[in-house]
Amino acid sequence: MSEKRDLIILGGGLAGMGLALQAKKQQPDLHISVIEKNAFPRPAAIAKVGESTVEIGSFYLSHQLGLEAHLDKSHLRKFGLRLFAGVPERDFAECDELGPSKTFGIPTYQLDRGVLENHLAAQLRAHQIELIDQADVGAVQVADEKSVAFATPAGARNLQSRWLVDTSGRAAILKKSRSASVQ
Ligand SMILES: Cc1cc2nc3c(=O)[nH]c(=O)nc-3n(C[C@H](O)[C@H](O)[C@H](O)COP(=O)(O)OP(=O)(O)OC[C@H]3O[C@@H](n4cnc5c(N)ncnc54)[C@H](O)[C@@H]3O)c2cc1C
Repeated sequence: MSEKRDLIILGGGLAGMGLALQAKKQQPDLHISVIEKNAFPRPAAIAKVGESTVEIGSFYLSHQLGLEAHLDKSHLRKFGLRLFAGVPERDFAECDELGPSKTFGIPTYQLDRGVLENHLAAQLRAHQIELIDQADVGAVQVADEKSVAFATPAGARNLQSRWLVDTSGRAAILKKSRSASVQ
């Protein structure tokens, strides 16, 4: 049986979960599913690049998604981009430093991606957004109505939606599905 959604998001990383939360805050009636390959909760330290925010990314997380309190409590504040000269073994406070000496009004953070993604997952569930983890999406069918079939530990599922967003990063599920359907 196919289940209808308003929006399906492929990949539950920072981009996918952030978009789901943003869309739901703007349109609370939307029925959204995020499909993620990995299991939640994620380990606090996950091997993902993208741990250092600049102001614009930090603004999105804190002001658009409302994560300011979480960022201040659970992540490390930093001054944009800071470069330290010298040997790594030395105390950073004693090294020559290149970087701004004042904050720009929007704080920036060094993120623990696992901690942040777990917090986002909790936010999604609190906002009645379906987060389906341990679900490895293969090909998707793209017509007027998009169709996504995948397996979960609880069994096979099929979702349909008019809107489909691929935030699977380098996996590029949609791009690969379209190339396969053209051949
Ligand atoms: C070397 C390097 C350094 C970087 N440093 C920074 C930095 O310091 N700061 C910064 O902001 N950005 C940095 N970036 C960019 C960084 O990649 C992004 O900021 C961020 O990780 C992108 O998040 P995302 O949600 O788009 O992708 P991801 O976090 O990769 O999320 C994609 C999700 O899709 C899921 N997925 C994949 N395949 C499937 C499938 N078949 N089915 C279901 N789910 C699937 C994955 O499990 C994953 O959770 C860096 C990038 C690189 C390459």
